[in-house]
Amino acid sequence: MSEEGAEEVLNARASDKISELDDPRTRDAIERTLNIIFKVMRQMEMPDLSSKVLVSSLASGAVNALVAKGTWDPIVHIFVDADLLVFVASVAKIACQCLVGADGKSIASKAETERALASTDVQAATMDLFRASTVLGSVRASKPFVIPPHLLSSWHMLNQTMGAFVLGHELAHVLLGHIDDEATVTGSMPEVENADILLFSQEAELHADRDGALLAATSAHAHLGHSLLDIASPYIFMRALRLLEDCEVVFGRKRGELDSSHPPAHLRAAFIRQVLVHKLPCGADLTAVLDRIDEFMGCLASLVLAEMHILKAAGITPVHRVMLHVFEKPAILG
Ligand SMILES: [Zn+2]
Repeated sequence: MSEEGAEEVLNARASDKISELDDPRTRDAIERTLNIIFKVMRQMEMPDLSSKVLVSSLASGAVNALVAKGTWDPIVHIFVDADLLVFVASVAKIACQCLVGADGKSIASKAETERALASTDVQAATMDLFRASTVLGSVRASKPFVIPPHLLSSWHMLNQTMGAFVLGHELAHVLLGHIDDEATVTGSMPEVENADILLFSQEAELHADRDGALLAATSAHAHLGHSLLDIASPYIFMRALRLLEDCEVVFGRKRGELDSSHPPAHLRAAFIRQVLVHKLPCGADLTAVLDRIDEFMGCLASLVLAEMHILKAAGITPVHRVMLHVFEKPAILG
């Protein structure tokens, strides 16, 4: 993706709103990423899901995506929350500022990463993102921030491949036959009428992580100018989700409480790391980048969790989240 291409996407006019819950910008972003994945799947001679799957935006206020089966049609519906895409876009901005070098392409040197992590702008944007999600209840409450122009192309690629992992994970549930799996159970939620929400087993979730990560990495490969950071994007996403979970834990929420059907994010991150190292022919170079991501995320976690403890000590309590109802117990799905 050229710099002009990235700008074109950023300046594109949003589609019209098509339903009460529709978020056109979210849907446009999803459709762009979905078309790239479908193209990659065609190239890999994988089954064509384009007429079997319908992807929509949702505004439930959770960093989440979910699969539902219509009761009125044979289509599999994938819902992606607007919060999830805002989270992905913001994490990609922070990661690019810390992990992309001065040329806007190469991996930053350790000194460049340390300098970026020490900058007040990066620290403020990072803390605002995690504070908004944890305390205010929505990442959309965080302030938008801009990145230097030379990072625009790298940001666009990383944003798109992280989004490809999210969609790839949901598509993998369809490809792997989890929909008809005996271990899959159904529930319902008020926002999605006439559809059964599917809750997969934890084993199925890890398999979807594996195939979703490989789809995203392959879609990164399909772009000219991709970097190892794009290949590693599923890992960056899951490490950021792990930090979000760690923030919730500071305020007394149980790990996995917001996301009842998935294994905890730290287990998913470790699994995705292994998949990327063992299933992709990138060798030691990718391992070195994953190690850099570990250091970077470790520093972000120290910053953010220290802020959470300060907020907690000051008596700040998170707003009550609107939980979605599945069966009789409150839960947010994925
Ligand atoms: Zn899943």
